[in-house]
Amino acid sequence: MPAARPPEKATTLDALRRAAASCTGCDLYKRATQTVFGEGPPRASIMLVGEQPGNEEDLAGRPFVGPAGRLLDKALVQAGLDRRQIYVTNIVKPFKWKATEGGKPRIHEKPSRGEVEACRPWFDKELWLVQPKVLVCLGATAAAAIFGPAVRVGTARGRALSSPQGIRTFVTVHPSAILRMRGDAERAAGMRRFVADLRRAGSAARRGR
Ligand code: SF4
Repeated sequence: MPAARPPEKATTLDALRRAAASCTGCDLYKRATQTVFGEGPPRASIMLVGEQPGNEEDLAGRPFVGPAGRLLDKALVQAGLDRRQIYVTNIVKPFKWKATEGGKPRIHEKPSRGEVEACRPWFDKELWLVQPKVLVCLGATAAAAIFGPAVRVGTARGRALSSPQGIRTFVTVHPSAILRMRGDAERAAGMRRFVADLRRAGSAARRGR
């Protein structure tokens, strides 16, 4: 599969964002409204990386502004973290979706491994430019992109890992997984654990590792 080719002369996030807006590195751009690039301070100490934008993100052109993003915002507040100080992005930049019958909302469709690999040069360059002290993988797709397909969120979670780039990295669930939990008790427990994971990442960033 062809892949994204970030221009070498794009040495700022703004330049990278502009270049990604017209990327045709794989077929995903054809059905998405726009490329949803990461956002946040250019030298943020924490970077959060998810899988791909959803329906609302696709329309707004911003990452994590839909239901999962609103849950993430609440969890960050509970963890004592300020989203405005955090760089938030996705491994895959456009929304991959499938249609539903009866004009219902577009449904998220998981990107293939080939699509993740095609798109990840944008993320790699974001990571290189931001150089966060701490990286947090939100969910299995992001974790697999960093650590390979054998990684499991359940076993990697709760530990401080080192990414291949040498960045202190934590793996946790994607906030959409908490939204899908059934029952208030399960969802509350899921949220507590998610907040604890984010708090651990915040502590590591404050310590500088
Ligand atoms: S998914 Fe990534 S590589 Fe494919 S067209 Fe979109 S930005 Fe380019």
